[in-house]
Amino acid sequence: DELISQIAAGEVVERPASAVRELVDNALDAGATQIQLKLTAGGVRALVVEDDGCGIPKEELPLALKRHATSKIRNLDELESVATMGFRGEALAALSAVAELSLASRLGDAPHAWRLDARSGELVPAARARGTSVEVRELFFNTPARRKFLKTEATELAHCLEALRRHALARPDVGFAVWHEGKLLEQWRAASSSQRMAEVLGEDFIAHSRALEHSAGPLRIHGRVGLPEAARSRADMQYVYVNGRYVRDKLIAHAIRSAFDDQLHGSRQPSYVLFIDIAPELVDVNVHPTKIEVRFRDGREVHQQVRRGVQQALAASRV
Ligand code: ADP
Ligand code: MG
Repeated sequence: DELISQIAAGEVVERPASAVRELVDNALDAGATQIQLKLTAGGVRALVVEDDGCGIPKEELPLALKRHATSKIRNLDELESVATMGFRGEALAALSAVAELSLASRLGDAPHAWRLDARSGELVPAARARGTSVEVRELFFNTPARRKFLKTEATELAHCLEALRRHALARPDVGFAVWHEGKLLEQWRAASSSQRMAEVLGEDFIAHSRALEHSAGPLRIHGRVGLPEAARSRADMQYVYVNGRYVRDKLIAHAIRSAFDDQLHGSRQPSYVLFIDIAPELVDVNVHPTKIEVRFRDGREVHQQVRRGVQQALAASRV
């Protein structure tokens, strides 16, 4: 059973950045307005995500660690819609199978917080403000083969920051801060979407990109797309979100690229932050445990509209 848990965990948790992705997801689901990420040794030794969200009641703390236990599905109707959003009640269970995990949480009206140690099951009073802290220590300590595949501290840190950027771009209304070894690396206060993009991706991205806004039936596409002359040799500023969720999708990447026609020289890569909002029944985002891939009911239509939207944004910049 422990082995099965560890194998299952491997699909969800590849590296510290996977924990960042899942834990920040949970914090956002809990309605957090401020999220702090604290890392030690690139997140390999320790990684803490603190939020000011709704918190977890004392009696539900042990439940949160069980596989397929989720508080996010209340009935069968919800199961249908929630399934398409990728909620699967597995992240905390997976993390506790491959790391030392502890949860500390306090409800708004509780006199104090409670802290649960996943391994010992010990539940003790703790001090913290309203919200939840999840601490993940010594990732893969019990699966040395996997731990060996982790890269240098600097690389794992870079992946953690990238995971946070993906969330931060989608949720400019939430404040984020990230610390490494006690040093504040980034702080993004709640802001407008373009202010957040400027902070996370740099002023240059804003200066050399155009706003995009295009609707067609059940599809709305918005965000910013970089001008062809600002295309880079690296594909490191390409962010696509489907219904608020970061995805990597070949179809969308291709549609965007094709909108540039022959304006991209050589292997130059366009930069973009694109939000695609679509009726949930027209997309399945639950095809992979990491929830990063999507399948559209009508891929051709999505391709066409994304291409059109990007073309319009680029054309508007030429007049
Ligand atoms: P899922 O998010 O798919 O429900 P998880 O394993 O990520 O599954 O989390 C399990 C449960 O723990 C959640 O359904 C939620 O009830 C609770 N939980 C986890 N993180 C938080 C948090 N930061 N704030 C409040 N509740 C949380
Ligand atoms: Mg979750």
